[in-house]
Amino acid sequence: MEYYSSHINKLIEQLAHLPGIGSKSAQRLAFHIMNMPREQVAQLTGAINDARENVRYCRECFTLTDQELCPICSNEKRDHHTIMVVENTRDLAAYEKTGKYGGVYHVLHGAISPMLGIGPDDIRLKELIIRLQNDVEEVIIATNSSLEGETTAMYISKLIKPTGIKVSRIASGVPVGGDLEYIDEVTLLRALEGRVEL
Ligand code: ZN
Repeated sequence: MEYYSSHINKLIEQLAHLPGIGSKSAQRLAFHIMNMPREQVAQLTGAINDARENVRYCRECFTLTDQELCPICSNEKRDHHTIMVVENTRDLAAYEKTGKYGGVYHVLHGAISPMLGIGPDDIRLKELIIRLQNDVEEVIIATNSSLEGETTAMYISKLIKPTGIKVSRIASGVPVGGDLEYIDEVTLLRALEGRVEL
């Protein structure tokens, strides 16, 4: 039975596709949007379109950025011989917030998960290996301590080991299964400083 207008149903359906939004939340958001002034709705949709159209991947580290080369990769003061591997741009932001990491990053955009059918080719791993042909001294693996994060860390370390480049893993202390972005700066710094060579 159709309780709402088909337009609202369509909106609810689209909102429900977003992560963390169940059908109840989708309904709540849809009705909230219906009560918003038109101008505000236009600003919201404009911002979504604008971000989607103009944000791209940095050609070096694959973080989301407005330029071809992100501000971190184009900064000559950063240590370009140290690469920290993170799962996503939010994790990169978490480390940047500490202000204590001077190297550069590599953003995988995911983690290996046999259960979800996500393999090494589905994340930006090949791109990392290509970067290692440059002068790299250390790769710090800062994937999450979830099962997927650990699997990915192990996979990467096995790939890099034969090259002779130093590979390290951030120290545990980062709660198991904890998303890096929710962890406070002190814990992140401790994890970084206490990293162990693999
Ligand atoms: Zn970059």
